[in-house]
Amino acid sequence: MNRILTIACAVTSLVAPFALSACTGDGYGTSAIYSQLVEDEIRVVMPANAPSISQQFRVAGNRGGRGNPTSFHEGIDIIARVGTPVIAAAPGRVVDSFMEPMYGNRVVIDHGADATGRRARTVYMHLDSRRVQSGMQVSRGQEIGTMGRTGVLAAAISHLHFEVHRTRGTRIVTAQDPHLFWADGVGRVTCFDPERAVDDGVFRTTYPVPCRENAAR
Ligand SMILES: [Zn+2]
Repeated sequence: MNRILTIACAVTSLVAPFALSACTGDGYGTSAIYSQLVEDEIRVVMPANAPSISQQFRVAGNRGGRGNPTSFHEGIDIIARVGTPVIAAAPGRVVDSFMEPMYGNRVVIDHGADATGRRARTVYMHLDSRRVQSGMQVSRGQEIGTMGRTGVLAAAISHLHFEVHRTRGTRIVTAQDPHLFWADGVGRVTCFDPERAVDDGVFRTTYPVPCRENAAR
């Protein structure tokens, strides 16, 4: 997948040099286009001060992608420099914090059941460092680690692979598009703001990487 990103960045840099910043890990305010294989594409609204999204969620639909490993990406990739803080997208309890070869350093937070009765988890991968251990309670916006490129699948590109999992009934559902859960609404990427309360009983996420305070617009 990262080879695709690298190629896409190389091609993009030829036709739109301004977009190259998104490929060097220092971009803000841009959100990659969805794969043509995705049928339920979400219109994404990115704040100008939010670190860019280099790859969207995709699972194979009916357009022939089934069985093709490149048609699966069960989260979004957010790019920034190694060492950038990674923060909890919602309050919860850490249920996993470990290192493995493919996705590197991983943290998983369980957010419990919300007012709808459904449970949610968020997953953070390729971290450079982990700041939390299994069993710890974390608040929204708390630093849980730093961004990195650990694990073979990071392909040496510093980024956060971020997933949202939800249950349906008693069944653990595979990952859902993270853009469904932002506090400001579907597709509306919501920066974490410590002054703003967004917890109203329903599972809502804020961006898992801090937005910069003074946005260059
Ligand atoms: Zn990814």
